[in-house]
Amino acid sequence: MVYQEKEQFMKLSEIEKLQEDLFKKMVRYAYERVPMYRRRMKEAGVHPDDIKKLEDKSKVPFTVKNDLRDHYPWGILAVEKRDVVRLHMSSGTTGKPTVVAYTQRDLDRWSDLMARSYSAAGVTREDIVQNAYGYGLFTGGLGFHMGAERLGATVIPSATGNTKRQLMIMKDFQSTVLAATPSYAVYLSEKAEEERYVPKKDFNLRIGMFGAEPWSDETRRKIEEALGLEAFDMYGMSELYGPGVAVECPEHNGLHIWSDEFLVEVIDPETGEVLGEGEEGELVFTMLTREAMPLLRYRTRDLTRVTWEECSCGRYHPRILRIKGRSDDMLIVGGVNVFPSQVEDVLMSIEELGEQYQIIVDRDILDRLYVKVEVSPKVYGKAGYDEKKLKEKVESSLQAALTLRARVELLPPGTLPRTEGKAKRVIDLRKRV
Ligand code: ADP
Ligand code: ZN
Repeated sequence: MVYQEKEQFMKLSEIEKLQEDLFKKMVRYAYERVPMYRRRMKEAGVHPDDIKKLEDKSKVPFTVKNDLRDHYPWGILAVEKRDVVRLHMSSGTTGKPTVVAYTQRDLDRWSDLMARSYSAAGVTREDIVQNAYGYGLFTGGLGFHMGAERLGATVIPSATGNTKRQLMIMKDFQSTVLAATPSYAVYLSEKAEEERYVPKKDFNLRIGMFGAEPWSDETRRKIEEALGLEAFDMYGMSELYGPGVAVECPEHNGLHIWSDEFLVEVIDPETGEVLGEGEEGELVFTMLTREAMPLLRYRTRDLTRVTWEECSCGRYHPRILRIKGRSDDMLIVGGVNVFPSQVEDVLMSIEELGEQYQIIVDRDILDRLYVKVEVSPKVYGKAGYDEKKLKEKVESSLQAALTLRARVELLPPGTLPRTEGKAKRVIDLRKRV
């Protein structure tokens, strides 16, 4: 059974026609109901009547994260407060959190998009979904929960934490799907080994729904190998409902953006210029049917490329090629641009290293990049382990990839802090001032 099969397999011409109709309606809706959008459009000299074709979309001004923050607490509501049935908030590590509001219709739509995402990965109502995303203000927990219920699968809301119980449930109920952040999945696989489970024998996992943070292909292979499942990447963000914006199909060649809801553009982050297909830039989304909190041309700060080529799975929904990271994650170290994902790629490609690492940037006279990484328990302290040689190998691989010297510290397995939600891997001490 394929959930919302018609929507999953829409033809390109159908998608474009629908996007045009919905975009025109959404611009008018936002203009009429949200003072911020009306003001912005007036300033830019555009009126909803000027939006006649989809190509006219670039006349509409961008929306940025600060627009949402500036409207704390209630955000840019287009409905009465009494019509709002749910709030979520993003972490807000810097300044006020970003609040997102949902009407009942919005929650239904989000549930459908999530159910459809599970379905595209091959999950059905026969599955037992163990949902190890955090429940609460974070959209991960409830998003993955509602989607699995909507699909008709059995959901176990095990949430994060209490990892021993998590593993016991996984074994006793023979969960077939694990939904979690990739970093928590890694942690679970380590704990499983510590607790003497043999995942491929004791567990019955077949599919992993992993997302909410960047992760490398190497991490994927390690999780798949350790837990005996097929991993599917999922992308989303709280401003865009939450998870369920884009998902991998079994071809694993990018993440399909559900483009009957999310109109995607890629722009040059410096100039705002719209880029062509396949060019790398910042993802910009317009939500085509959202009721409580319309989002027009929202700048995500996530950097990647998009392709509209038909996928061999038969879907025409465009695909995001792997997220490189957020433009604000990029570190500038002594004039060199470094993405944490580049460092991860290097570390995970070295067999002798574990999955846990930390990137630290500091400045004495010059900027310095430090990388702390755990050695794999399969190698550490065992016969033939040569710390000096391994350290040199890591340093020279990093230098080759980053064109920058990093100082490497090798640590025993299990020494870096673990997280149950999203991993915090970068510490920039220069920001302390
Ligand atoms: P915040 O982290 O800002 O509190 P979210 O939890 O909504 O809010 O996080 C959304 C962000 O997480 C995205 O903008 C993106 O940077 C990152 N993200 C989500 N899914 C993925 C993914 N599959 N791959 C890489 N990055 C992802
Ligand atoms: Zn596909």
